[in-house]
Amino acid sequence: MAHPRVDAIVEQARAAVAAAQSSSELEAVRVGVLGRQGSLTQLLRSLGSLAPEERPLVGAAANEAKRALEGLLDARLAAASEAERQADRSRRRLDLTLPGRRPPKGSFHPLTRVHDEIVAIFAGLGFSVAEGPEIETDYHNFEALNIPRDHPARDMQDTFYLSESTLLRTHTSPVQIRAMLAQKPPVRIIVPGKVYRRDVVDMTHSPMFHQVEGLAVDHGITMADLKGTLELFAREMFGPRSRIRFRPSFFPFTEPSAEVDVVCFLCHGDGCRLCKEGGWLEILGCGMVHPRVLENVGYDPEELTGWAFGMGIERIAMLKYGIDDLRLFFENDLRFLEQFA
Ligand SMILES: [Zn+2]
Repeated sequence: MAHPRVDAIVEQARAAVAAAQSSSELEAVRVGVLGRQGSLTQLLRSLGSLAPEERPLVGAAANEAKRALEGLLDARLAAASEAERQADRSRRRLDLTLPGRRPPKGSFHPLTRVHDEIVAIFAGLGFSVAEGPEIETDYHNFEALNIPRDHPARDMQDTFYLSESTLLRTHTSPVQIRAMLAQKPPVRIIVPGKVYRRDVVDMTHSPMFHQVEGLAVDHGITMADLKGTLELFAREMFGPRSRIRFRPSFFPFTEPSAEVDVVCFLCHGDGCRLCKEGGWLEILGCGMVHPRVLENVGYDPEELTGWAFGMGIERIAMLKYGIDDLRLFFENDLRFLEQFA
C-alpha cells in the first residue's frame, strides 16, 4: 500500500527525523507532519476533494504512514529526551569550573624547623647529635661545669629542684659532661633539648624552652675555630650577608667567654626596631672550655683544648621569622602554625 503523494511526505519526514539533533527539533518535525496544519494531516483532510476511486487508496496509505511516523517519532523523542536528561544531570554533577578541594596538609612547628636546620648545619660540619636526661643531677648541671655553690643560677628562685641533688636541667651543658665522660677526644657534638627555669611566662620568658649546645674538644682547638664555625653557622642560618661579632662575657664553664651577635638581617646594621637601633642581634653565648671542666671529666687541659656554645632555639626562631612573642610557640594556634607550612 503506497501512493506517490504519501510517499513524498513520508520520505521528507524520515529525512527530517534523521537530521534532527534534539528533542525540540524532533517535536518541530512532528508538528510539521502530524500537527493540525501538518502535511499529512492536510492530505487526510483533503481526501474529499479527490476522485472517488483515489480516496480509499490515498486514505489507506496516509493512515498507514501516519501510524508509522508516529511510532518512529515517539521512539526517537523518547531516546533524545533521555539522552538530554542524562547530559544535564552529569553536567550538574561535574562542574569543571569549581576549584579543587585541597587535602588538609600538616606542617612542621617553627621550632622543629629551626631545630632541624641547626642540626643539619652542624651535621654538615661533622658534628653528631647527643642527648641527655632532662632530670639531671646537681653535679652534672652545676658542679662539673665549674658553677660554684654560691652562684646565683643555683638559687631555688631560678632552678626547679626535684630533691636536694636532682633538678630539671637549666641548660643543655650537662650533656657536655656526660659526652666527655663517655668518650675519648676528639669530641664534636651538638645537643638539642628542652631546658627549664623558674621564669614567669611573658613575651620573652617561658619556664620551658629549647637550647642547642655545641662542643668541640681536640688537640690544638682554638678560639679561631670557634669563630669560623659560628660565622659559617650564621651565614647558613641567616643568609650569606650575615656577619657576626664577639663581645667579651663571662660564664663559669668557659674561659675566655663571649657573647655572639649577628648583624641585624632586617636593616643590615643601620639600626631598626628589631635590633633596637643597635644594628646587632645577640644569638648565643660561647667560649673556650674551662680547664677545670676538662679536668672534671679526666681530660688533660695541658693536652686538650675545646670550645662550647649554647643558643636558644626560640630566640633563633623569633629572629629568623620576626616573631615578637615567645608564647605564640606554645599556644598551638593553627592560624599561627599554618604560616610555616
Ligand atoms: Zn636592625
